[in-house]
Amino acid sequence: MKDCKKCNLHKFRKNVVPGDGPVPCDIMLIGEAPGRDEDILAKPFVGAAGKILNEALKEAGYTRDSVFITNIVKCRPPGNRVPKKEEITACSEYLRDEIERVSPDKIILLGRTASNTFKKHFPEFAITYDVYHPAYALHAPDMRDEVIRQIVEALG
Ligand code: URA
Repeated sequence: MKDCKKCNLHKFRKNVVPGDGPVPCDIMLIGEAPGRDEDILAKPFVGAAGKILNEALKEAGYTRDSVFITNIVKCRPPGNRVPKKEEITACSEYLRDEIERVSPDKIILLGRTASNTFKKHFPEFAITYDVYHPAYALHAPDMRDEVIRQIVEALG
């Protein structure tokens, strides 16, 4: 995956950001795409949205390294734009490989891009929960508690 050039996102990235966590793992969380911090550190959800996610994980009794965290696409879209259809399609075999290796009981889809694209590409994995994307709490601070509550509830 490190040298992937399946789509144009390779021209803009610093690093490919593969999923992170134990394999296999009961719980898999899927976001949209790496952001700036993730691109630099080559790890998903290590920036401001990751702090919100970590808070929810802690509140639900999980440590960050007890769950598998990944994204729909593994390279940062320029300016954090939403990934394009062809980028999502090009990257889908990496996500499929992660799901097969991780073999989760539960897949938590963080935000609308993850939810819509996941259901379109992977309808056979009907073990999903839809929650707000943690970054929503950054744009709408009054939604912070609700964003965290949804993730905690999905984690069960
Ligand atoms: N937002 C995402 O969807 N994924 C990340 O890894 C970071 C922010």
